Amino acid sequence: MTVIANHLPTEELQRLDAAHHLHPFTAGAELKAKGARVITRAEGVFLTDSDGNRMLDAMAGLWCVNIGYGRKELAEAAYAQMLQLPYYNTFFQTTHVPAIALAKRLADLAPGDLNHVFFAGSGSEANDTNIRLVRHYWAAMGKPGKRVIISRKNAYHGSTMGGASLGGMEPMHEQGGLPLPDIVHIGQPHWYVEGGDMSPEAFGLMRARELEEAIGRLGEDRVAAFIAEPIQGAGGVIIPPDSYWPEIQRICDAHDILLIADEVITGFGRTGAWFGSQALGIRPDIMTIAKGVTSGYQPLGGSIVADGVAEVVNEAGDFNHGYTYSGHPVAAAVALENLRILEEEHVLAHVRDVAGPYLAEEWAGLAEHPMVGEAKSFGMLGGLQLTPDKRTRAAFDAPAGTVGLRCREICFRNGLVMRHVGDRMIISPPLVITAAEIDLLVERAWASIDEACDQIKADGLFAAGPGVSENA
Ligand SMILES: *Cc1c(COP(=O)(O)O)cnc(C)c1O
Repeated sequence: MTVIANHLPTEELQRLDAAHHLHPFTAGAELKAKGARVITRAEGVFLTDSDGNRMLDAMAGLWCVNIGYGRKELAEAAYAQMLQLPYYNTFFQTTHVPAIALAKRLADLAPGDLNHVFFAGSGSEANDTNIRLVRHYWAAMGKPGKRVIISRKNAYHGSTMGGASLGGMEPMHEQGGLPLPDIVHIGQPHWYVEGGDMSPEAFGLMRARELEEAIGRLGEDRVAAFIAEPIQGAGGVIIPPDSYWPEIQRICDAHDILLIADEVITGFGRTGAWFGSQALGIRPDIMTIAKGVTSGYQPLGGSIVADGVAEVVNEAGDFNHGYTYSGHPVAAAVALENLRILEEEHVLAHVRDVAGPYLAEEWAGLAEHPMVGEAKSFGMLGGLQLTPDKRTRAAFDAPAGTVGLRCREICFRNGLVMRHVGDRMIISPPLVITAAEIDLLVERAWASIDEACDQIKADGLFAAGPGVSENA
């Protein structure tokens, strides 16, 4: 049996890693100089690295380990499925039991008439599927001109050509000639940075109405869909003003535009509901899923599609699209076991009634720190903005992200994995986190922000720059 053990010294692992492993979203030269952090095991909400350091993982890996690390039941589900049927495909009129069972389970969990699942291997792939699916749908409806998909600046929808095009991240668009044609981006509902003197509610309405303006400009007969994360994740955990989503919903309904909710982060309990759409009162036609559906124990993504859309697509002949691993039986078996645990251990109620409210209170306390302008959370998602001037919401007099990066590095040293997006610090811990672990998280966050603040002051960077706090 091949057991991947940590049999080499850390420096040797780092050297081999730098020599042969091209990393996602990483500057290779810098990595080579510093050496990657080697994670060797994990249990509950804690990671252990190759030097034996234990860290509280406030990011649940990459927003995905919803039930926490070390659940044997998922390993056993994978093992049993591999013995019974390790692989078969779902192309050309074949299927298998795990894919059937998972599709049925997801249809039951999803709100409204979202009853049909197209499986993919990841969130990016699922969003690629969505691009083709909505264009194919409108063509089948006799409206082939409806091709444009409207998304938002600073959105994250994955890293494939389609996913990155839907996303609104400029550093991603710059590499590889993106976005693809017929994808248009409007403003994000990020009040702290972009709201100026407006109230959050007025600003939320204004940003939602950019969708109506874009539809007016392009023509309703050209717009296929609007895609958005219920709460932006990778953009900086941006919780929209309450006015935003009802107005978006009204506009999509009024103009016959399909609404795609990218639930890759907000799905499977992170907001205290099964889906963020339920927590925020959104009625999507399609939901993108991945990450928490398996708690990251296996790669799996998909699109959950409404009856009306699925019927049209089913009647339109072959959908010339699919992935070798669509509905992979091992991933599907692990997803089913993960969903069973989420349900039977009442994890959603834990987020909604216990851990979520407690985190909200403790996290909000960080806003008392002199370098924190805002600290907000929703369920198990939290974001806070670092600023040298709370009153004016100013940015630092240093390139965006300078202070955030320092803060993140200090967090790591203090045993806390917290991410930075520009000068915003973000968390997305495992949903099973306890009150005592939340105390530890917030304690380490405060100490780390404090340490960063002292450093920033000593270096003369605790000064307001010309702009408002940035997070890109
Ligand atoms: C992570 C993410 C994706 C991409 O998922 P992958 O599995 O990394 O391809 C898409 N949308 C959102 C909102 C995400 O957070």
